[in-house]
Amino acid sequence: MRRALACLLSLLLTLAVPRVPRAETALEQRFDCEQAFDLIATLVIARCAAWQAPPGAADKLAATRARLLTSGQASGAELEAPRIAFCPLAAGTGMVPAPRTLYLDDGLVELSVDGLAEILAHELEHVAQFERLGSRNFKCDYVRAMVACGGCQDRRNALEAEAYARQDAVREALAREVTPAP
Ligand SMILES: [Zn+2]
Repeated sequence: MRRALACLLSLLLTLAVPRVPRAETALEQRFDCEQAFDLIATLVIARCAAWQAPPGAADKLAATRARLLTSGQASGAELEAPRIAFCPLAAGTGMVPAPRTLYLDDGLVELSVDGLAEILAHELEHVAQFERLGSRNFKCDYVRAMVACGGCQDRRNALEAEAYARQDAVREALAREVTPAP
């Protein structure tokens, strides 16, 4: 969930900001927070559905899952919950556009296992947020937080702050471990 989504949502929400209070009600009814989220998410899901994973993706993902599991940074249940796929994302490293649907940018296949592990942990946190809050609440909280900070998708968004905190914790934990030679 990164810059492209921020730009599109900002545009949508800018268009949806009315000059006249009475128009606001009509526009908000047409573009509520969940629909604003789904507008982008649906496009990403449609594009990624037909995408062929790059060579080495399955092996890299398996190694990354194993790294998170054996280091105690993710549980087996958590790693099994989402369908994880590589897909070219417009401007970002990962996205959770729907419950238990997790995309990683296909450029990340070239990344180290530990590098990918921290990004996967970030996105697993969004999967957990979807579960904890419920689908509509997650989408609406996310969009509202973005609007509140002028379209940001960084730590000023409480849901992103949580995901980045986990990403940081995983990075630090993996760096502390002695990693075997590849
Ligand atoms: Zn995020």
